[in-house]
Amino acid sequence: MTDCLFCKIVAGQIPGSIVYEDQELVAFKDIDPQAPLHVLIVPRQHIETLNDLRVVDDALVGSMVRCAAALAKKNGYSNRGYRTVFNCNREAGQTVFHIHLHLLAGRGLNWPPG
Ligand code: AMP
Ligand code: ZN
Repeated sequence: MTDCLFCKIVAGQIPGSIVYEDQELVAFKDIDPQAPLHVLIVPRQHIETLNDLRVVDDALVGSMVRCAAALAKKNGYSNRGYRTVFNCNREAGQTVFHIHLHLLAGRGLNWPPG
């Protein structure tokens, strides 16, 4: 997807502060962090929203969630706690239409969210 910001970060066309990558995922720091740790876990594959996931993507989404848990552990937040968020479409606040899992940690996070 030529006009997708996260495809460009995945392809290295736009710099990202990458903290992890493998064959299927790239994780990088959010440019506008909402917590001391705020990382976005992104599949290399362009998928616009959660509504576009298919059964064949189940393992990919599982990898995204496990990546979040591993990064939380690496940063010392496994026991303190952390939040993972997928925003889907505009009313939930999705602004980049390439699925991404937010990992937030390092402060008390309110519930319900705003
Ligand atoms: P969402 O609102 O769920 O679509 O999340 C998009 C996230 O991407 C926001 O938290 C933005 O701060 C973040 N973001 C936007 N541009 C960049 C960028 N160039 N590098 C890293 N994060 C970005
Ligand atoms: Zn994309």
